[in-house]
Amino acid sequence: MTEKTTRVDMEKIVSLCRRRGFIFPSSEIYGGLSSCWDYGPLGVELKRNIKEAWWRAVVQERDDVVGLDSSILMHPQVWAASGHLEGFADPLVECKECHLRYRRDELEGDRCPSCGGELTEPRMFNLMFKTFMGPVEEEASVVYLRPETAQGMFVNFQNVLNTTRKRLPFGIAQIGKSFRNEITTGNFIFRSREFEQMEMEYFVKPGTDEEWFNYWLEERLNWYVGLGIKRENLRLREHSKSELAHYARACYDVDFLFPMGWSELEGIANRGDFDLAQHARYSGKSLEYFDDETKEHYLPCIIEPSAGVDRSTLAVLCDAYDEETVAGELRVLLRFHPVIAPYKVAVLPLSRRENLVKAAKEVYNDLRQCWAVIYDDAQSIGRRYRRQDEIGTPFSVTVDFQSLEDNQVTIRERDTMNQIRIPIAALRSTLQAKLAGENLFVLPEGGQVWKEGG
Ligand code: ATP
Repeated sequence: MTEKTTRVDMEKIVSLCRRRGFIFPSSEIYGGLSSCWDYGPLGVELKRNIKEAWWRAVVQERDDVVGLDSSILMHPQVWAASGHLEGFADPLVECKECHLRYRRDELEGDRCPSCGGELTEPRMFNLMFKTFMGPVEEEASVVYLRPETAQGMFVNFQNVLNTTRKRLPFGIAQIGKSFRNEITTGNFIFRSREFEQMEMEYFVKPGTDEEWFNYWLEERLNWYVGLGIKRENLRLREHSKSELAHYARACYDVDFLFPMGWSELEGIANRGDFDLAQHARYSGKSLEYFDDETKEHYLPCIIEPSAGVDRSTLAVLCDAYDEETVAGELRVLLRFHPVIAPYKVAVLPLSRRENLVKAAKEVYNDLRQCWAVIYDDAQSIGRRYRRQDEIGTPFSVTVDFQSLEDNQVTIRERDTMNQIRIPIAALRSTLQAKLAGENLFVLPEGGQVWKEGG
């Protein structure tokens, strides 16, 4: 009998992430640093897989998008031109009693939610982290940690145009760290002060911007579905007029149904020609595009899909989390799509006997040339299966004593717990097909199938 619970609370995700080495609080031995997180051995693989899937979809498989890796520290004028120095601020209030700080626009009443104390008048608080460049700490040497990666793409527009000979429409993409001194953080890695973004700036001819905006809305939503996130846990939400930045012509969020409710995963905006116009004005350089067909010079419009790596990581963790009761015991599993699973395959020798270990290591060394594979020989085979379930490994390969005689091994599937036995010679090709989602019950010659515990 199998019972299922579908909704997950954040505590369970946080606890699993710690227990299994996905995510730890930053500087934990010193008591942690507020809203900063460290990705452990499994978390780093998961996050890397998400970034690779994005790069593949947005850059590698397209003719019209190229990559960039711009520096985190940029000329201070960038932030004057972008509007971040003036406008990148939230209204901050502080409790006069307990000194906790809140975003005014997120508070319901006019008292401190923690102690009921009186609040100060709101003042605007700039979210950019400041630091100093060079040996002297003076106003003239102030630089900022970038609060978004986008500006690196805008200021390199002409460089990319001149060196790649791309014609409109084309995009520049980058993945990298951003920093915001957020007033209210929380919900685990959903909102932190240091995070990673995956952003793409798509430059188009004015007049075609609406069409491209709609194109990217659909592309981006489908990308999350392709990562294995359930469609019913995703939605597109249009920004109301009052939410729109003054320069934005339209904006939608891709929302995910997180444990705390629907929240933003990614923002997709039609930014018009605001960014290039601002940088042209502040730098005094022309950022116009020459259209060979119409012989016109103009500033392209920009469509920007801006996604968060950490929020995608949290979304896939929440979406994949599942619990069921199997033979009276709780089975916790992460039903990750193979593309993002930290390990694709686990190799498990039935015991630590020398000849078994040798055979298992041979299988392991062979498979790890193709995929991220984990070798685990600690504790009973049942516990090892559960451990792999909990870290979302789609397939386990068990090498037993029979394997030494018949050169066959067992593949066990995380989701169904079905097991099949196949010749080692067919292992690579079978796993390849299974990882690609092909029919899991087509067996190579000599194979057999059964259910765990059966
Ligand atoms: P929010 O309103 O939730 O603070 P935002 O609208 O300010 O987000 P954008 O400026 O549109 O966010 O940034 C694009 C993406 O970068 C977001 O959709 C999110 O995935 C990610 N992001 C932004 N701020 C943070 C943060 N503090 N922590 C983690 N991810 C973030």
